[in-house]
Amino acid sequence: MTDFKNFIAGEWVAPSTNAYFENRNPADTRDLIGRFPASGVDDVERAVASAQRGFDLWKRTPAPARGDVLRRVGDIMVTRKEELADLMTREMGKPLAETRGDVQEGIDTAYYAATEGRRLFGHTVPSELKNKWAMSYRRPIGVTGLITPFNFPLAIPTWKMFPALVCGNSVVFKPSEDVPHTGHVFVEILLEAGLPPEVIQLVHGMGEVVGKAIVEHAQVPVLSFTGSTDTGSFVGETAGRMHKRLSLEMGGKNAQIVLNDADLELAVDGVLWGAFGTTGQRCTATSRLILQEGIHDRFVARLVERARALRLGDGRVAGTDVGPLVHEASREKVEKYVAIGRSEGAELACGGSRPTDASLAHGFFFEPTIFTGVKAGSRLEQEEIFGPVLSVIKVADADEAFAVNNGVKYGLSSSVYTRDVTVAFRALQDLDNGITYVNAPTIGAEAHLPFGGVKQTGNGHREGGWEVYEFYSETKVGYVDFSGALQRAQIDNY
Ligand code: NAD
Repeated sequence: MTDFKNFIAGEWVAPSTNAYFENRNPADTRDLIGRFPASGVDDVERAVASAQRGFDLWKRTPAPARGDVLRRVGDIMVTRKEELADLMTREMGKPLAETRGDVQEGIDTAYYAATEGRRLFGHTVPSELKNKWAMSYRRPIGVTGLITPFNFPLAIPTWKMFPALVCGNSVVFKPSEDVPHTGHVFVEILLEAGLPPEVIQLVHGMGEVVGKAIVEHAQVPVLSFTGSTDTGSFVGETAGRMHKRLSLEMGGKNAQIVLNDADLELAVDGVLWGAFGTTGQRCTATSRLILQEGIHDRFVARLVERARALRLGDGRVAGTDVGPLVHEASREKVEKYVAIGRSEGAELACGGSRPTDASLAHGFFFEPTIFTGVKAGSRLEQEEIFGPVLSVIKVADADEAFAVNNGVKYGLSSSVYTRDVTVAFRALQDLDNGITYVNAPTIGAEAHLPFGGVKQTGNGHREGGWEVYEFYSETKVGYVDFSGALQRAQIDNY
């Protein structure tokens, strides 16, 4: 059995605590992947001190050269794609087709970041005074603390790390304790690609210890966190008190709307993928299905038939549609919400329990579950479950559908199926989400567009695309006066 290590101060090292936690395959818990460091505050201290040295070196490396390292990272991920997909499925359960997509998102993000090293634009604008230049440009900030969740073990770390690195910052990385193996291999790849060792630190461990120590560390001025809204609240309060720059990506309660004029078979395909892909454990997962009454009964009948045909199983076995939940606590949370749904009077149309198939007895499996007759405003309709549970809400028209979509505290993703171009554009205008899809499911963001949510999903920043580079760099302004005289702005102009 392998005991994995942290990467701190340029070396693979055991944790100061000498304590480890086990990482097991959620499809079959008899399969032990390895033991990973349950690090302590001392490990974070050493990591931050090293990352400060790394920052001093890296900030002086030209941005195009920083980008070249990320291009090589992308090249290595291309050659190791299958291996990365397999180890990710083994430790968090989603089927190989999805973990291959996860790796591809990392590759796309690497190549985007590589070329961004040759842009990182500032502005040169006319000064109001003669013989004077005025320009803005971007500077690195310092040590960034990157804290990530389990559901996209590679893609989410790359969304944060690649722009942070291209902008010239160093990194202290704490992957989710549910997916430490992917974090380990990712750091190996960064080093193989030539990233100077002290620029990256990997500290494994529990959120309440390692994550908290990073968040509270005075020498970590930039934090990027993706995870639950509860944890995000703690991170946000601390960052506010300590005046840190913070990007938060948190929970969702995303809806797919299907109107009477929609292509129904297309919409059924969309909701099955949106609700049960990654076993419902995506921040953008379709958790609510809002159906116009004219198609409601027909649509539910077809959807339930198709959901019952989904094959539960080990994501590494060909033919599996839906893998396990990531751990037992997640499955218990799903069971709790099934009970809540029943007590609120919703009708269970399919699923609702653990599978009885003996071959699935050693994993955290749960049947794809659909509730109909769900009331807007009920707990089932309002709260993030993060599992394979879909709530169907019946509405009279598009106006009511939009109001139901907007009636939750989250605002990540939404989707509308309609053939009416007027309604489609109204949806783009009026749905309170960071992303709206027309005739496509709530999941499927592309790496080169800004990603993030409104309301309690986020705090206004975006990952992906061009906007994230603003987050990881500080704008500075330079004025050069070559007039040889004192020129006073606002006084001596014109
Ligand atoms: P989580 O909040 O339990 O954990 C996320 C990370 O935070 C982990 O690395 C964890 O160790 C760490 N952490 C836990 N407590 C901490 C603390 N006190 N201080 C600092 N760090 C701490 O979330 P999860 O279960 O891994 O992921 C699921 C959640 O993530 C869902 O709510 C989902 O919607 C959200 N998510 C959001 C997005 C998005 O982009 N909006 C993307 C993926 C996941």
